[in-house]
Amino acid sequence: MRSKAARSPSHTTSPSKMSLKFDTPIRRDSRKRHNAGVRRLRLGLANEAVYDVVIVGSGPAGLTSAIYTSRANFKTLVIGGALWGGQLVLTSEVENFSGFPEGVLGPDLMDDMRRQAERFGAELIFEDATSVNLSSRPFKVSVRNQTYQAKAIIVATGASPRWLGLESEARLIGKGVASCATCDAAFFQGKKVVVVGGGDTALDEALTLAKFASEVKVVHRRSQLRATRIIQERAFKNEKISFILDTEVKDILGQERVERVRLKNVRTSEESELQTDGVFIAIGQEPNTKLFEGKIELDEKGYVLVRDGSKTSVEGVFAAGDVQDLRYRQAITAAGEGCKAALDAGRYLEEHP
Ligand code: NDP
Repeated sequence: MRSKAARSPSHTTSPSKMSLKFDTPIRRDSRKRHNAGVRRLRLGLANEAVYDVVIVGSGPAGLTSAIYTSRANFKTLVIGGALWGGQLVLTSEVENFSGFPEGVLGPDLMDDMRRQAERFGAELIFEDATSVNLSSRPFKVSVRNQTYQAKAIIVATGASPRWLGLESEARLIGKGVASCATCDAAFFQGKKVVVVGGGDTALDEALTLAKFASEVKVVHRRSQLRATRIIQERAFKNEKISFILDTEVKDILGQERVERVRLKNVRTSEESELQTDGVFIAIGQEPNTKLFEGKIELDEKGYVLVRDGSKTSVEGVFAAGDVQDLRYRQAITAAGEGCKAALDAGRYLEEHP
């Protein structure tokens, strides 16, 4: 299972993905809540109080933190992002989150976490945080023109899909270029698609796409896949899926829609073109830390540096989930880290009421 931590302020999502997401029941529900959050912001009701904890992000890390802090009677606000729920809301079946022997749908799992946090009194706003001020206590987190004060902050903004960075990729997003098969695979019924990447995400995307597409070609830049053995075996067994190894996608061709990709074999430098209707980019993720640049210490890849559990370089600010975890990136580890951050924040608040 992929780590699916918080979709967040700097989250990159294709237009097609967004519209599809809001068509699902969970998205309609979140839209209602989002509107309620906006109403509350307009009334200006939320900013007078100082929260014990403000959690930025609403994936498994953020919502688990919220369950723990609110259950411990700390006044808790979750600024969950306009696309709340983290990357799990973009998946279908989650088979390795313990406690679900038959698996669980990612959106259902996140909805349950949200309801569990609300049950203990956590307040949730479905808006993106737009700025933070960590220079003095109480800290401040702004959502557009509304500012919330916090004695402690938990950063759980997760990570977002990485893109190749081609001009044609940006131009054709939603016109055949996508990054979420669960969201967009149904558009490719009977069509040919290319998946770029060699990790678990790429093969997961390929398997999802194979339920709809007539053929799926996985293009990977090395001769060996990075994906775990069990996922590789599933992909190898699927007759619709084939592999083009040692190959990079140099360009995506097509004016109105994706028509072809230009490939380059990295061993021979030979270039070729491949006809395709869609290109799914599945090459990993970037941490959502733009909001915190220059405010807390980040590593050279942009992930939040934590020490001694979940502590960041600013006392009273903690981090959990994919935003600080390049290595494990699992929903279950994010949830565990959310718990740790909440306990660390709780201890800090007892010492600094
Ligand atoms: P990974 O970092 O594991 O893999 C990224 C892949 O993309 C690599 O094969 C990498 O190539 C390739 N890549 C990176 N940048 C580029 C680029 N610019 N051009 C071309 N190729 C590129 O990311 P994933 O998203 O696949 O997985 C993230 C984590 O989530 C992992 O821990 C994974 O195990 C987990 N996961 C688990 C799932 C499950 O259990 N069902 C499903 C999905 C994810 P190279 O190999 O050369 O570095």
